[in-house]
Amino acid sequence: MPSPARSILSQTVPTTTEERTPRDTSGDALGRPMEEDGHSPKKDPRSSEPVPHGFASRVRIAEDLDVDPALLDRARRRFPVQWPKYYLDLAVRHGNDGPVARLGKPDPSELIEDPGDIADPISDQAKRPVPFVVQKHPDRVIILTTKKCHFYCRFCFRREEPVAKAMEPDDADWARIFAFLEAHPAIEEPILSGGDPLTLSNRQLFALRDRFARIPSVKRWRIHTRAPVHYPARVDETLVAGLGQDLPLRVVTHFNHPHEITEESHRIARLFARHGIELKNQTVLLAGINDDPLTQERLWRELWHLGIRPHYIHHPDRVAGNAMFRVRIDRGREIFARLGASLADLPQALPRYVIDLPDGSGKVPVPDLERLDSHRYRYRHPDGHLSHYRDVR
Ligand SMILES: *Cc1c(COP(=O)(O)O)cnc(C)c1O
Repeated sequence: MPSPARSILSQTVPTTTEERTPRDTSGDALGRPMEEDGHSPKKDPRSSEPVPHGFASRVRIAEDLDVDPALLDRARRRFPVQWPKYYLDLAVRHGNDGPVARLGKPDPSELIEDPGDIADPISDQAKRPVPFVVQKHPDRVIILTTKKCHFYCRFCFRREEPVAKAMEPDDADWARIFAFLEAHPAIEEPILSGGDPLTLSNRQLFALRDRFARIPSVKRWRIHTRAPVHYPARVDETLVAGLGQDLPLRVVTHFNHPHEITEESHRIARLFARHGIELKNQTVLLAGINDDPLTQERLWRELWHLGIRPHYIHHPDRVAGNAMFRVRIDRGREIFARLGASLADLPQALPRYVIDLPDGSGKVPVPDLERLDSHRYRYRHPDGHLSHYRDVR
């Protein structure tokens, strides 16, 4: 196995791995242990129970979720399986075949090809002006800071990114990324994504913030993260206070189901609010998880009351291995129409329902697709050009 590339930003970072037991083999895509960055276990202010910290062992995952260990091993050779203890407890509380469990529980269908799979379903690979940067809009870009996550969602649309590719930008990559931003002053907002940017250390993140702040054309930055959902202990005062300095920040998190909203979510929402950082949510519409109007209504209402604003419902992207989560466009539109009606008293809580088109033209509103027949759709962009979408049957 090649040694992972060292980043310009990682060289100053002390790593502690005390949270991991030697038996905990559920590491990231390259088998590297997660960095713990010295953040300490956090207590829920309203309960005496400490919020669990660290990751569950492979044995515990298999037992608690009732997964065949052989399947778990086969699945994680293709895409890592890793469960924070906090999130595994949450899954078990809602049943080992409930929605929380199924978001990260390997399924035999992951290993089977499906006729609906699309190789690069949103042209994510084709739209990279420099390595680790995805650009489809003049004013904002996505930076793929890492492939690591605290938890690997089985529906992930980047699950097929070749593992052989570097995990993280190295010194030369970061130099190219910053040079690209400097050479393209139309880009006002770099968006850290991945992987989960909050698997980077505080020092790495604060160094990125400082570097962005030195680029005059960069007006704000953004972080897309599921850490508040999967690993809330990561989101502490030190992190949030540091992120909120010097350059305006927006954070977009990713709750998929009301069961994921806990006292920890309340704490985190208050924490970001106290530091003046706007928190929004995006969700992926997922078969068997949240593909019904009542679940969606509860999710968006509860988030609204936490002060977490709606961003997107994403129609799921059809990458190999996630066939079990797919929803048909007509079903998605029906769910969204009913959601809109049930949020008539709180229309500010309604997200936009979008699909990222395979031709790389970006996210477009699903309700605006023109239906041609039972499984073919067309979208006319504002400039008049057409995109086509062939739905699953
Ligand atoms: C979704 C996306 C963004 C962010 O778009 P917003 O609508 O601002 O959330 C930026 N770049 C790419 C390539 C995207 O797919």
